[in-house]
Amino acid sequence: ATLVGVLPAAAAEPYLDPSLPVPQRVADLMSRMSLDEKIGQMTQAERASASAADVTQYRLGSILSGGGSAPSPNTASSWADMTDDLQRGALATPLKIPLVYGSDAVHGHNNVVGATLFPHNIGLGATRDPALVQQVGRVTADEVRGTGVNWTFSPCLCVARNDRWGRTYESFGEKPELPVSMATIIDGYQAGGVMATAKHYVGDGGTTGGVDQGDTQISEAELRAIHLPPFQEAIRRHVASVMVSFSSFNGQKLHGSDYLVNGVLKNELGFDGFVVSDWNGIDQIEGGQGFTASEVRRAVNAGIDMVMVPTAWKQFIDTLRAEVQAGRVTQARIDDAVRRILTKKFEFGLFEKPFADRTLTGTVGNAAHRTVARQAVRESQVLLKNTGVLPLAKSGKIFVAGKSADNIGLQSGGWTVSWQGAAGNTTPGTTILQGIRAAAGSATVMYNAAGSGIDSSYNVAVAVVGETPYAEGQGDRPSSLGLDTTDLNTLNALKAAGVPVVVVLVSGRPLDIAAQLPDWSGLVAAWLPGTEGGGVADVLFGDYAPTGKLPMTWMQSASQEPINDGDGKPALFAYGFGLTYSTTPPPSAPGQPGTPVVSAVTSTSATLTWTAPTTGSTATSYRVYQGATLVATVTGTTYTLTGLTPDTSTSYTVVGVDSAGRAGPASGAATVTTPPSTTTPPPSAGCAVTYSVNDWGGGFTGTVTVKNTGSTSI
Ligand code: BGC
Repeated sequence: ATLVGVLPAAAAEPYLDPSLPVPQRVADLMSRMSLDEKIGQMTQAERASASAADVTQYRLGSILSGGGSAPSPNTASSWADMTDDLQRGALATPLKIPLVYGSDAVHGHNNVVGATLFPHNIGLGATRDPALVQQVGRVTADEVRGTGVNWTFSPCLCVARNDRWGRTYESFGEKPELPVSMATIIDGYQAGGVMATAKHYVGDGGTTGGVDQGDTQISEAELRAIHLPPFQEAIRRHVASVMVSFSSFNGQKLHGSDYLVNGVLKNELGFDGFVVSDWNGIDQIEGGQGFTASEVRRAVNAGIDMVMVPTAWKQFIDTLRAEVQAGRVTQARIDDAVRRILTKKFEFGLFEKPFADRTLTGTVGNAAHRTVARQAVRESQVLLKNTGVLPLAKSGKIFVAGKSADNIGLQSGGWTVSWQGAAGNTTPGTTILQGIRAAAGSATVMYNAAGSGIDSSYNVAVAVVGETPYAEGQGDRPSSLGLDTTDLNTLNALKAAGVPVVVVLVSGRPLDIAAQLPDWSGLVAAWLPGTEGGGVADVLFGDYAPTGKLPMTWMQSASQEPINDGDGKPALFAYGFGLTYSTTPPPSAPGQPGTPVVSAVTSTSATLTWTAPTTGSTATSYRVYQGATLVATVTGTTYTLTGLTPDTSTSYTVVGVDSAGRAGPASGAATVTTPPSTTTPPPSAGCAVTYSVNDWGGGFTGTVTVKNTGSTSI
């Protein structure tokens, strides 16, 4: 050991010299590699089907933990031991090429018991806070690196267009602008030394009927407008890898699409990282017959660089070797794939630091990380209805009910310890009930999941209800999107007591709740908050005034699905909607087409500037106050604009605000003076619309739609 320690670095092969440029190291290494060593780099096996000895013998380039696949015991340190053991297998090969170990750390390092689990992406989309989301990625990276994992199959950049789809919660939102802005999570992961994966390329969220692994039947123009921008953004942020989608585009499996992988992703968009298949994805090209030669050939020739072949990896290796020897896959294609993979291994320092970073192992699930998660939970809450019962008083008697109130597994959803997720205390954290108890001050908190024991002495009931965990394959809801019988029974028990009910909805998507909504005094969309349920309580008690905005259009009824912003269907709550307790609403995200920008807000007036709406787009969702003057300024010169009309399909909820700025009980009705319905064309200086609000003192919230129904985009 002493002798090795004094050898000069220059004695090593050039590819092991970290001072040399990466392309030079890659070229040097590849000049030393056999075909089998190259094919090994293109092969990713599952940990349960490959030992360290297999890694050495077959020169495997990558191992993954599929959903929930973990060592026993499932702790951060045994993960580190497991990945180090496999890594030693890789370093025992003649060329000592380190493994890249991949796992689905999709809301924190969720396969590891004890890790910090963040809200699923739909909740992060509601935060509209790219800087926070970047921090989420950075914290996740530390926990991931602490276990020897150096690649996460995240972020899912799907644009979920149909809430029936069981992976909707993996989406940051229904419009490309959300995954585009939340792609900062890639910077967080990669700054922490973990390769990110933009998935699933492309159109996974656009399948007809919201069917998982289904067929996206849209024009190429629509594919490019809606589903491609997040990948362009990920490439701009130098994402290390892109995972191909199980889905098809107009009948053709993405895994076999030379046009979309080689053509669009690599050649047109210039993606220079490596493309990985999804789990046995190439076997789907011809319908799951088991890695046939034609499937392997087609997928590799279409531009897939690494194949996730959990168990049949020996067969894959043999098949690909034969295809190369027969000249049906060129040596140049193999070299391109291997060059891409090795480049990332060098760039991420795997040759210099192949093992788990033991200085980080102990940070998994630590208090500092959970503080970041709690902030993400706070910011992800979307207040959808409030007759004045929120924020809750920290005195009196509060009744808490609902199956999701005291259950880490339910509040964390799928991809939590196991693939599909499960109810129960599957990993440490704070339940929503525990958060409520801790935040309740001098209030007495009573809890019964079913709602039994409530009586009229309670000044409020909080019902925490929603979906039970699911992940891909099992989460599609083609028939109903409503609450289950358990929840409806709980809600009926609370209703019978005659106390105001605040509903906290724990779900992976908007649900069909229009029939129950009139019974509720408050509604908070909590999404799937993860382990830090205390953040929900912070919002309920007003320790954090809600700032979340809907990342999805909320249906009036499930039969409207797919319903998305701009499609003209009347929503229950519009994309971007979200109330707060303060008298000054936060500004909307600026500069997006069709999105209102509240440029000046005082207690008595707001100026709404409608920037660059395209034909058919709508600008919605703002809040005005008593006596407010709302000025819609429309810019542009040659267009026809018809109608500046309040959306008459929307009912307005009166929200009173007391002198302390807290919402009081509802009273009275808002009357809206309808502005001129037609302004053709509007004055070049803009159109001014004045809404007179006549209520008892608070103002009103609601959705007013300004729509460009003309034939010309502005
Ligand atoms: C999913 C991917 C995931 C992969 C590895 C697949 O079934 O579609 O999102 O990354 O499994 O677990």
